[in-house]
Amino acid sequence: MKKAAIIGAGIGGLSSAIRLAVKGYRVDVYESNKSYGGKMKEMSMKGFRFDMGPSLLTMPEKLDELFYLANKNPRDYFSYSKLSEGCRYFYEDGTVINGYTDSKKFAHEVNKKTGVSEKLIIKHINKNLFLFDSTSFLFLEKSLHKIKTYFSFRVFIAFLKLPFLQIFESMNTVNKRRFNNEKIIKIFNRFATYNGSNPFKAPAILNSISALEFNKGAYYPDKGMFSIASALFKLCKDLGVIFHFKTTIEKISVENNIANGVFVNKEIKFFDVIICNQDIYFVYKKLLPQRYVLKSFLTQERSSSALIFYWGINKDFENLNLHNIFFSNNYNEEFKNISENNQIYKDPTVYINITSKMTRKDAPNNCENWFVMINTPNDKGQDWESLIAKARKNIIKKINRVLKINIEDYITCEELLTPQLIESTTQSFRGSLYGSSSNSRASAFFRHPNFSNRISNLYFCGGSVHPGGGIPLALSSSKIVDELIS
Ligand SMILES: Cc1cc2nc3c(=O)[nH]c(=O)nc-3n(C[C@H](O)[C@H](O)[C@H](O)COP(=O)(O)OP(=O)(O)OC[C@H]3O[C@@H](n4cnc5c(N)ncnc54)[C@H](O)[C@@H]3O)c2cc1C
Repeated sequence: MKKAAIIGAGIGGLSSAIRLAVKGYRVDVYESNKSYGGKMKEMSMKGFRFDMGPSLLTMPEKLDELFYLANKNPRDYFSYSKLSEGCRYFYEDGTVINGYTDSKKFAHEVNKKTGVSEKLIIKHINKNLFLFDSTSFLFLEKSLHKIKTYFSFRVFIAFLKLPFLQIFESMNTVNKRRFNNEKIIKIFNRFATYNGSNPFKAPAILNSISALEFNKGAYYPDKGMFSIASALFKLCKDLGVIFHFKTTIEKISVENNIANGVFVNKEIKFFDVIICNQDIYFVYKKLLPQRYVLKSFLTQERSSSALIFYWGINKDFENLNLHNIFFSNNYNEEFKNISENNQIYKDPTVYINITSKMTRKDAPNNCENWFVMINTPNDKGQDWESLIAKARKNIIKKINRVLKINIEDYITCEELLTPQLIESTTQSFRGSLYGSSSNSRASAFFRHPNFSNRISNLYFCGGSVHPGGGIPLALSSSKIVDELIS
């Protein structure tokens, strides 16, 4: 029986373990933490449960695919429902726009609240869907770094469409040209943050991300986001995958340019295949022999990070939904601060996720579990203590202005996740959420491939490598690895 080692039990690692176990490998997963999930983890505090990492599920069919592959019914493991409203958008002048996932309903809502024509909205959504459909096969499903990818007819067609895919303009430039309304531009610019980019720099091809919500749909797992990791873990166990928690891989053994094992507690364990779910930066920095280090991957710009407050709130807010955004009055300044000045803007866009709206037992009666997040620069050694203290004050001021309350009166308990903690708990360089940044035109091609050019039997999955961060893309990375191993 062939043997595979997987380094890390994040979503990329768990999905790779399932794929290799289905292939007939004996799979050993090594994870530094005491449990699985990586960035997808949960926490409980004083009767409140919180999903600490990802909060939005898109493309759930990529998860279901893993269960079908193993001849299992995904619904025996976890279930999810489609949301009728993706996000609720709040502005300081009192406007509230419900982000219905049905595009016609959304267009009607936008027209009612802002006067922007329904036709314009529908046209924009359809153009973004065209971008998504034209590019997803090439950019999300295949290795961009294998010649044979380019001999596929679908990829050839995607290349023919490239001149129409807006890679030479920023998202903001295109959105501004199409809409003469700041509120709507902010809604569509916001999708850049789904992979930690800056809409004022990122190529307009990333407008395709909005197709996920308005066309493909936004979803919620009935028992919260962590139930995804738990379902994948259970499937792994059912397939006989062996887990080694609290076990950090110290080095990958390479002989004659072949990866043949991993070092655990200074002892070598031999394997036929090694798949790294660890952030690629640290794979080069710590795991591989010096002669294989590719400096270009140590110097790439990283995606943004986040500051999250988990608040137990002893009040029900009927005007809030599962996903809520309170927009900054100056989105441009906010992103300049994040990506150019490495600072946090004084009027940040605040995202509030409340899973107790869907999973009632996530909070005690008449209470809500608030996950309050702002985008931040990644960790470049800023004075985080002072930045966080200021940001907390500014977040509270913002919430108070929009909801016309004093939110501090309702906070009963608090926990915090910072860029530094994201790095230390998931070994993600600089605490960036989505690996390297997607702010440049060619960033998709510069992401690390899912294999090594110089070391055979070594593969890479997860958010720091191709095709990128986020649950669906991490799942795609494992599928590409699976195909490469075939
Ligand atoms: C606050 C936050 C919000 C997010 N929001 C969303 C969202 O709404 N929707 C979405 O789709 N995505 C979101 N993401 C991104 C998403 O969580 C990740 O892209 C996804 O979970 C994929 O993770 P991964 O496979 O790269 O592994 P990771 O989660 O990075 O896990 C890697 C694992 O490897 C382990 N490891 C590393 N090195 C070693 C070693 N040497 N030995 C053993 N173990 C090791 C680490 O301990 C870790 O558990 C968010 C992330 C964060 C942090």
